[in-house]
Amino acid sequence: MTDCDFLVVGHGIAGATLAYVLRQRGHQVLVYDPGQANSASNVAAGLMNPVAGKRFALTWRAADLLPFAAAFYRELEQRYQQPFFTETPILKLFASLEEQNAVLARSADRPWGDFLAGLATADPGLAGVNGPFGGAWLRHGGHVAVRELLAALAADGTRDGWLRHEAFDWTRLVLDPAAVTYAGQVRARHVICCEGAAAVRNPYFGWLPLTPNQGEVLDVTCAGLSAAQVLNRGAYVVPLGAGRFRVGATYRWPPFADGPTAVGREELAARLVVLTDLPFAVVEQRAGVRPAVRDRKPLLGPHPTLPVLSFCGGYGSKGVMLAPRLATLLADNLEGRAEIWPDVSLQRYNALRPTGVI
Ligand SMILES: Cc1cc2nc3c(=O)[nH]c(=O)nc-3n(C[C@H](O)[C@H](O)[C@H](O)COP(=O)(O)OP(=O)(O)OC[C@H]3O[C@@H](n4cnc5c(N)ncnc54)[C@H](O)[C@@H]3O)c2cc1C
Repeated sequence: MTDCDFLVVGHGIAGATLAYVLRQRGHQVLVYDPGQANSASNVAAGLMNPVAGKRFALTWRAADLLPFAAAFYRELEQRYQQPFFTETPILKLFASLEEQNAVLARSADRPWGDFLAGLATADPGLAGVNGPFGGAWLRHGGHVAVRELLAALAADGTRDGWLRHEAFDWTRLVLDPAAVTYAGQVRARHVICCEGAAAVRNPYFGWLPLTPNQGEVLDVTCAGLSAAQVLNRGAYVVPLGAGRFRVGATYRWPPFADGPTAVGREELAARLVVLTDLPFAVVEQRAGVRPAVRDRKPLLGPHPTLPVLSFCGGYGSKGVMLAPRLATLLADNLEGRAEIWPDVSLQRYNALRPTGVI
């Protein structure tokens, strides 16, 4: 029998950050993940963008989450001596004069204005970029090489034996108030579900209002296109170096195809054409499934009636910015040092849980 403090199911960005924080604090952690090349985390463009949508709203808790995430990824860079986080200006191009005016009106607001590095009220004149209405230069954002980061962490897990490359079978879990046992092989104090969108089928957490949302990204080469910033208008264009860019993303609710589609490719190519007149070539196309939540807030913390189980996920399209802070909050909670924030707690959906059932 293997004994551990925490058994983490899933090694996407949610599970990997949580396992890292718990291990750093000296806990015995065991992680299960068969390794899924097209998990949302492995497909993600890795963008951390403080401003979202057509209304240019600051994303939820951006002023807290973004600097926290940046410091967290920097720490991992030090540890692995590998670059993961690229802090890059994000140019949100305006689609109209109305959008330009909306941002001008907001620019003095706090904390919104803290993310604004400058405003271009005319075409910023970047190589290959169409920006007739100008745009907002955002700071403190950037992008994370999520796949590489997870691979570095997983290599440690394989070497040190805390990562098992297998699917976790929830029907083999036996719950006791003090501990849980799994498949007669592992005993843990606590089990945390970090399964991403697959949690919709979880026997203990399937009642949560999680909906899979399929997304696609294209990697393109585009010679001559300005690569000193992330571009954002309709699509985002993340510079990857050597004339390569990641263009994303599409959003599809069920039912959706399993894997990349011709429709997704055309949609992203059409959006890129709005941003640049330069020719480009698609070199890779990938699809993954986001774990989306009805109120667009994450799902974190203990099961309402089974205190040996917790959930960590529902990160939608923002996993990269959310994961470090929420992993830390959940670790604090598991150590009895913090309450889960009410707006992310599973308790807010307690009414959805079928009574008399787990
Ligand atoms: C096309 C696309 C682009 C995106 N771009 C961005 C972006 O630019 N910025 C951003 O912040 N977010 C982005 N996202 C969203 C981001 O990917 C998600 O928010 C995040 O990856 C979710 O992380 P997760 O760990 O919860 O889930 P996942 O990444 O899906 O990981 C879940 C893991 O659990 C494992 N698992 C599931 N069931 C079991 C089981 N029974 N046993 C063992 N293991 C199991 C899976 O193998 C998987 O590795 C994008 C998503 C997509 C699809």
